[in-house]
Amino acid sequence: MEAVGFDRNKHTEEQIALALEAGRFPHAVLIEGGSPDERRSLALKITASLLCEDDEKIPCGQCHSCLKTLGGFHPDVLFYEPKRNPKTSTKNELYYVDYIREIRDSSFVIPMEADIKIAVLCEAQMMNEQAQNAFLKILEEPPEFAVFILLSSTKSVFLPTILSRVMTYTLSGEASDNNEAIPREAAYAAAESVTEAIAAPSHFEIVRAAGVFDKNGDLLKAALPIMAEIFVGALRVKYSAKEADDADPCSILASKLSRRALLKLVDDVNILSEALNMNANLNLTITRLCTLFRSASSEQE
Ligand SMILES: [Zn+2]
Repeated sequence: MEAVGFDRNKHTEEQIALALEAGRFPHAVLIEGGSPDERRSLALKITASLLCEDDEKIPCGQCHSCLKTLGGFHPDVLFYEPKRNPKTSTKNELYYVDYIREIRDSSFVIPMEADIKIAVLCEAQMMNEQAQNAFLKILEEPPEFAVFILLSSTKSVFLPTILSRVMTYTLSGEASDNNEAIPREAAYAAAESVTEAIAAPSHFEIVRAAGVFDKNGDLLKAALPIMAEIFVGALRVKYSAKEADDADPCSILASKLSRRALLKLVDDVNILSEALNMNANLNLTITRLCTLFRSASSEQE
């Protein structure tokens, strides 16, 4: 049996192809890195290979299973995307606990045509800690026919308990440069949600908010100076007798963070800007931003 369509020159794809050829593809995997499209197309290739009926080449692209899987209508293949929680006012699309429960319920329904049932969770980094704990319960006692494929910009957002139950594959390769000018509103919205996340009770909020910079170094470059403005604004609020305004990011930060933390954040942002101008790796810079901001958020007043 030969797995075709995988780029054998790339270590990760080679590992995946070998596992498929040996019939030993794990029942729960996490694919991290690369672009959302790369992750998704790899997941589709894996899915088609797992379901293909051909004895020699998988995915053959011609059998019933391949046609249905690649056409997006195989009943035993479920692709999930983050979505809005109708029970809350938040506009964010994510995997919330009730959604994870829906995914669990459909994962437990016996497959209709194949021997296995495959659930692909796209953008799985949009799972907060609570949702991850709900998902962990599925991983702890999965139905034996289930295969779970998590796609994520990074594995760093996942709880160690999740990571210990999945096989992680890392895609290398950098994002293509996005040269379009970034509108100020977009940069401002990104800067505001990341800085507000510093004041949030859970550290996952920072990682989640910083997800907008994934593959978009230009947006990060444009947002960093605005973050600096917000931190400086917060320092100003802290030293003025101004009435705090709950809707203003500066006021929110001023009420939550110490003066020292705010000063450090201004420095952090400058360091990150410099790194980006020196062409630092984008993923590493985003990770660094999350780490720096997380340490500032632990200095709450
Ligand atoms: Zn096939």
